[in-house]
Formats: sequence, structure tokens, C-alpha cells
Amino acid sequence: MDDKEILQKALEFHGHRCWASVAGVRVGLAALNKLRVRRSGGTELFGIVETGEEHGGMCFGDGVQYTTGCTFGKGNIQKQPYGKLAFTLIEKETNRAVRVVFTSALQKQIATSAFMQKRAAGIPPMKFLWRNKWNWLIWSGMHRRSKS
Ligand SMILES: [Zn+2]
Repeated sequence: MDDKEILQKALEFHGHRCWASVAGVRVGLAALNKLRVRRSGGTELFGIVETGEEHGGMCFGDGVQYTTGCTFGKGNIQKQPYGKLAFTLIEKETNRAVRVVFTSALQKQIATSAFMQKRAAGIPPMKFLWRNKWNWLIWSGMHRRSKS
């Protein structure tokens, strides 16, 4: 599965398209790449996701889970309520670990976007048309960087 397929399937798993689940995929891929490991089919990897309970944090967690295979279903992920968008990936056999924090230059723009304003007003994400501008910017930002 290439990165684009992982993104597509992660968004299908999550159920809607939003910037935070894309950020979770991006962070998950960065962690896998840094440790030079593949998505966990079993429990050889362990993840710690640092989020809050707010919409964005939960969506981020879904992106990270799908991408790394560290899932609540398999019990190889733990949630820390630190209110960040960060993820630590641990390879259990070697004890190697990496912590990746999502800090986008777009964060201010995302926070004030029509998408987030509608979400804050309680409108579910599938109830309005969103042109995936943030998905694309977050995703293409990763690919620009990984190719350089
Ligand atoms: Zn979402």
C-alpha cells in the first residue's frame, strides 16, 4: 500500500474527511518512516497518542491508528490526555522510539476556517460541503518535504 492508498483507506475508516485525521495519517507515516518499520499487523509496535477529547484530537487518533496499526482494538496504543496532536511510536523488540508532534504553519488558518466554525456550531462534518482544502494542504506539505 502506498501513502496515498493509506490516506484514502484511513479516511474511509474514519468516516469523513477532515484535516485532523489527515494530520494523524501524516504523523503516523512520519513515525513509521523514522523508525524504518512497517504498519503493525500484530502488536510488535506500541503507540502513545497525546490528544484531548475535542473533535480534532479524536480524529487525529483515528488517522494514527489506521496508519500505524497501533489500535485500541489490539491494545497496542495508549491515550494520554495532554491536549496535543502528538504520537510516540515504540518498536518493542529493540526499544527504539520516536515522538512526532503535529505543528502546522496552517494551524491558525485551520482554527478560523469555515470548516472549524461549522464544527464548533455543532454541525456534523458530513452535513456540509467541504472542498478538502486543508486535507490537500496538509497532505501535499508532507509530500513536498519527503521528496526533498
Ligand atoms: Zn474527523
